[in-house]
Amino acid sequence: MVEQANSGATAETKQCSMCQQQIEVAKFRLHEVACIRMNYKCTKCGEIVPKAEREQHEDDVHSDKPLLSCELCNEFSTKDGQALASHKKD
Ligand SMILES: [Zn+2]
Ligand SMILES: [Zn+2]
Ligand SMILES: [Zn+2]
Repeated sequence: MVEQANSGATAETKQCSMCQQQIEVAKFRLHEVACIRMNYKCTKCGEIVPKAEREQHEDDVHSDKPLLSCELCNEFSTKDGQALASHKKD
């Protein structure tokens, strides 16, 4: 059995449940599998974050830690006390 390809028709697309992009149906399954494997949808803000950056995102955007600003230059702010300390040393 060979399915007839709809040549000439605009490629049908489906919306990826992960990244919300319109993906060609022919590539959809591959895309979605890769997309879900690579990305993480933040439960707090709904943003799509690469899994590798998940902790960074949680830390930057959703941590309860107060934002610390450098009182020396007023240009540097972080939630990471160690980063601030090493920044001030520079
Ligand atoms: Zn996707
Ligand atoms: Zn988030
Ligand atoms: Zn500074």
